[in-house]
Amino acid sequence: MNSPLSRRLFLEQSGLALMVAGGLSAFSRPLAAAESPAKKAQIAITLDLEMSRMYPTRDEMEWDFQKGNLNDETKAYSLKAAQIASESGGLIHYFCVGRVLEQENIDWLKEIHELGHPIGNHTYDHVYVLAKKPEETQFRFQRSPWLIEGMTTEQIIRTNIRKTTLAMEQRLGFKPNGFRTPGGFYTGLEGREDIQQMLLDEGFSWVSSKYPSTKSYNPADMPKQDIFDELIATQEAAQPFVYPTGLIEIPMSPTGDVGAFRSGFWNRDAFLEYVELAVNWAIENQAVFDFLAHPSIMYVEDPNFETIKLICDLVNNSNGKAEIVSLSTIAERVQ
Ligand SMILES: [Zn+2]
Repeated sequence: MNSPLSRRLFLEQSGLALMVAGGLSAFSRPLAAAESPAKKAQIAITLDLEMSRMYPTRDEMEWDFQKGNLNDETKAYSLKAAQIASESGGLIHYFCVGRVLEQENIDWLKEIHELGHPIGNHTYDHVYVLAKKPEETQFRFQRSPWLIEGMTTEQIIRTNIRKTTLAMEQRLGFKPNGFRTPGGFYTGLEGREDIQQMLLDEGFSWVSSKYPSTKSYNPADMPKQDIFDELIATQEAAQPFVYPTGLIEIPMSPTGDVGAFRSGFWNRDAFLEYVELAVNWAIENQAVFDFLAHPSIMYVEDPNFETIKLICDLVNNSNGKAEIVSLSTIAERVQ
């Protein structure tokens, strides 16, 4: 996995890279806390429905080519998470890789929808939307280039988004609720008005693409307090804003499960401790916390759903200072 693509994706998805400077550019409008004194913190629990490399075992890399071929454990975890959130009065916003809709049985996904949890578009093959060349879009297309024969990079990305919307309409019977880019980008879609416009054209008013840069940290089973402090300090850069095109950005809040477990080698207690700090930060600052995880990782790292239960408990015990919402609800407040 030494291609420029794999290295770039790895860096973007890991919490280990030597990070470039983050922060919002002069062209974007930060909309953080404190617009009105009574504003509730908005907590989102988001789960990306895809397979993840290095899970369930570290040597597993084939998922890079089959992101949407979800295994039974991942599907079961996704559904159970929805049921647990519902029982706690919570909500989970899912993002679905379109290829999973080729599977014979999608009852689990229908059930998640029937419980009232929104499901968004995460592209068909988990493509890299900032790609400059066709072969950079996905590992699958490096191995099987005939699948994208004659297509431009723009066509590959647009088709991958559109096919997911179509698959959801035809197989599930409803449209996607929002769009999340595969991989998170330190500067989101800044400077890529073409991709912003593509998403607007494809019917999306908001995107979740930004994953703010954090300082580098070394893998540690139990990270030290200074790492927690650094990560909490990045929450400010993970607040929603509007791009010049009018597209709304709802960043993913550091750190998600990839940065903590896959890259950081944290244990579960460390992750729970961090999540509690981050949710409490959002509550104190009347801000947004967009928790990002993957059932394909969490069924290994958190088989008893402790993280989701913790977030629901923290919000339920906040005396009305916080609410668990979908990313669409967060987008409404940004407007
Ligand atoms: Zn993803």
